[in-house]
Amino acid sequence: MKGAFQLVRVAGIPVRIHWSFGILILWVVYTAISFDLSWQATLMSVAIVLTIFLCVVLHEYGHALTAKRFGVSTKDIILYPIGGIARLDFIPENPRQEILIAIAGPAVNLVIAVVLLSITMLFTPYWVDLGSRQFWGLDYAQPIVIIIAKINLILLAFNMVPAFPMDGGRVLRALLSIRLGRVRATSYAGMIGQAIGLFLFGAGAFELIFGKAVFIGGVQVSDFVLTIIGLFIYFAARREIRAVRLKHLLETGTVTEVVDHDFNIMSANTFVRDFDRELSADNGILLEIDDKIVGILFSELLKEARSKSQPEARLVDYMSDFYQNIDTSLSISAAIHIFNQKGYRICPVYDKQKLSGILSRKRLLAFISGKDAPRAREQ
Ligand SMILES: [Zn+2]
Repeated sequence: MKGAFQLVRVAGIPVRIHWSFGILILWVVYTAISFDLSWQATLMSVAIVLTIFLCVVLHEYGHALTAKRFGVSTKDIILYPIGGIARLDFIPENPRQEILIAIAGPAVNLVIAVVLLSITMLFTPYWVDLGSRQFWGLDYAQPIVIIIAKINLILLAFNMVPAFPMDGGRVLRALLSIRLGRVRATSYAGMIGQAIGLFLFGAGAFELIFGKAVFIGGVQVSDFVLTIIGLFIYFAARREIRAVRLKHLLETGTVTEVVDHDFNIMSANTFVRDFDRELSADNGILLEIDDKIVGILFSELLKEARSKSQPEARLVDYMSDFYQNIDTSLSISAAIHIFNQKGYRICPVYDKQKLSGILSRKRLLAFISGKDAPRAREQ
């Protein structure tokens, strides 16, 4: 991830922080100074913000460590000013596993809040008895602990809003997928996520233009940070809907849909000196002997053959056997996997033992990029 540098690495997962996080800290300091706070209070404000983000990191670890139990590793956890993201390699398609991974984050916030509130309740009587608000020399310890506890409850509530791809939205998608299948479930959950995202953005824009705050059930929803989060949700939902659709297409589509019937084939016994055509770098010519493909001629091999200028050399002496036969019934995703694993450029494609055409890396790439590449899922 560009613009993010590593802070620590815990349980094998790097925690990275995005540079824009620095702006948040500067903003907190700027606000504190403009409110004429003392330097102690300013420092305390920064400490509170950092503590909140510590809670966010713990929330993300909730996702990551639960995912690990289901065999899903996490690339990293990235902290942005608007929150954290645990970049899981993939999200399990098993609805139960997806739900458990999704609620593990908010569950961490619930545990933090319950622990902090319990501690406060345990110690409050002693404060009252001592007739002082001091405890172990910490002034106003209680309010800060309660602030952190409340913020954790807000994080819990906010993340459980069913705005896919936020945690609550993932739970919704998983529940819908039991009945509707993953593709349709993602479409519906994603549309709800996009609607909520647009609403948050609209509420922020409304306040900016008309100067009136928007409230829902006593909660102000027009807010600068929520406006940005709204946009983020909208585009993240759109990307996930596309990624799931493409993945479905790749898994259900077969090589039949991408095979290239326009290809060149010639006898492997052709003399190099008789071959007067040029080949582009990503192209190749199938070579056959007795109607059987025996190799592929690539441009660099042709160049090498010509540079040696041996009059009796034939194409068979320079051909490559770096390919494998692909069947038209193979799924597109399996074909991509083979090309990625082996690094093939061109493979002959057969339909019921009969040569049907060729499949090239270039064509597969074009197929993927024509839609939207599947990418790391974000949680
Ligand atoms: Zn989360």
